[in-house]
Amino acid sequence: MRLIILGPPGIGKGTQAKRLCKRYSLSHLSTGDMFRSAILEKNAVGNIAESYINFGKLVPDDIVLNMVEEKLAEIEKFRGFIFDGFPRTVPQATGFKKLIDAVGLSLDKVLAIHGNNSILLERLSSRRTCSQCGKIINLIFSTPKVYGQCDRCSGDLFQRDDDKENVIIKRLEIYKIQTEPLLNYYDNEHLLLKVSGLGSIDDVTARIERGVENLIKAE
Ligand code: AMP
Repeated sequence: MRLIILGPPGIGKGTQAKRLCKRYSLSHLSTGDMFRSAILEKNAVGNIAESYINFGKLVPDDIVLNMVEEKLAEIEKFRGFIFDGFPRTVPQATGFKKLIDAVGLSLDKVLAIHGNNSILLERLSSRRTCSQCGKIINLIFSTPKVYGQCDRCSGDLFQRDDDKENVIIKRLEIYKIQTEPLLNYYDNEHLLLKVSGLGSIDDVTARIERGVENLIKAE
């Protein structure tokens, strides 16, 4: 299975992608995670990406596509994957199509999770990241056993610069202008499956899994 998970920041793409990977043994490819590792490594891609990410802007398409091309070369050809946070623009989607066509692969489905802006703002500003192991928790859905500390490794929890309210508003605006047109793009390609992001994490997982099971049955 080769999937893309699409949706506005804060809708829970990362959480749902991780669950799908576990359930169906897929590789999880998150461009946001790739950029965060590059920033930690302080390499050339990381240095460029940081200046965009901290202001809630998108990293330029050519940089994203080069990084994805390298990643695709690393994963086993016959293992399924799920891209999370990529593509985010129509040029990224057309560039991606060329990349996978070139290696004889195709996409099975694009799962588009949707929700409204007030929920997204609330969810994103409640998100905390562990400074030690990188685990992300949401204070709406879980309370750490010790205030301000990660349950997994006791590292300090912090709020990412791009999860602060002014940057979130910018990210949501950019999503609307640059990423939302992908819904039409993938609808025209007959790949789109829309899923509501409302309710609990389990509710959304159940909806997505129903869609994926139908996909498997139809094969
Ligand atoms: P995420 O963790 O997916 O929300 O990504 C965090 C940030 O990384 C985004 O706000 C962007 O600045 C950058 N980023 C991640 N993926 C992409 C992409 N496909 N295109 C452009 N920028 C990206």
